[in-house]
Amino acid sequence: PESFLSVRDLKVTFSTEDGPVKAVDGLSFDVQRGKTLGIVGESGSGKSVTNLTILGLHSPRTTTVDGEIVMDGKELITASEKELEQLRGNKMAMIFQDPLTALSPFYTVGRQLSEPFMKHRGASKKEAKDRAIEMLTKVGIPQPKTRFDDYPHQFSGGMRQRAMIAMALMCDPDLLIADEPTTALDVTVQAQILDLLKDLQQEFGSAIIFITHDLGVISQMADDLLVMYAGRAVERGSAREVMSTPKHPYTWGLLSSMPRLDSNLDEALEPIPGAPPSLLTPPDGCRFHPRCAYTDLVPGNQCSTTRPPLGDGRASACHLTAEQKQTLFIDKIQPR
Ligand code: SF4
Ligand code: MG
Repeated sequence: PESFLSVRDLKVTFSTEDGPVKAVDGLSFDVQRGKTLGIVGESGSGKSVTNLTILGLHSPRTTTVDGEIVMDGKELITASEKELEQLRGNKMAMIFQDPLTALSPFYTVGRQLSEPFMKHRGASKKEAKDRAIEMLTKVGIPQPKTRFDDYPHQFSGGMRQRAMIAMALMCDPDLLIADEPTTALDVTVQAQILDLLKDLQQEFGSAIIFITHDLGVISQMADDLLVMYAGRAVERGSAREVMSTPKHPYTWGLLSSMPRLDSNLDEALEPIPGAPPSLLTPPDGCRFHPRCAYTDLVPGNQCSTTRPPLGDGRASACHLTAEQKQTLFIDKIQPR
């Protein structure tokens, strides 16, 4: 099936006083209609930049964008600001970590939900209000008719997150981009919001890009996973495949630092040594090589000289052999 969103060889470069920063360096992925793609990586991996670029929210003055972003047949990189503004909040919407990025403190929640709907859909004030109350109800805001007239600060953190989701769903978007939407919330509310997103996806059929540093959060939500490191994709596959048979040493590290239900928490937390590289002067070859424990298994210094390609479909960008990718993780980490 043709994918709803297709990103090909995306390169996003910021010009800074110290030189160009390649925040995203040759990224390709697809999102299927009505499905969830999880993008996982540490901060600075390029996951947020990628999504701001899709939405056209990068600063054109300091950012160079190359490659292709095609949504529903429309090329977004070359689209005008006017076209992008039409698409944002209408065909595509965003849910942020901090609801106050999206909700202004100065206007009532109801007004902020209604106005884009009136603008994008040519709805009357009454129609927009009805729709807003319907959406507030759907996301589980109690007494939505009264709450419509509240300001964001009168909502709790979890309620604000729900209100932002309601706002994102007002125009029934085909693509919803959620950037760490539950990171600031406590575990119980986090689980509620994830359940809510899953239910709403069933109902609305939106495709979702879910960005997170937490593989545990995303594994229950996503159909497909893309693991990013230092501006590049290192592994791709269905969520089930990536979680059960991960093939990239970076993914192994992410998985082994995840607390597990079936084991002692202390023993499970095994962080990846070192830190992600500066993207001003990224390492040659595989960008993960300064932190990787397996470089000796690859002949001829390839890890530090040659960029490992990411193939199509189920793939990992690593010079290890298929057999090593199959067995190393299982041998070393799996048995407990
Ligand atoms: Fe590690 Fe080399 Fe594979 Fe990169 S290519 S993940 S450095 S083994
Ligand atoms: Mg981010």
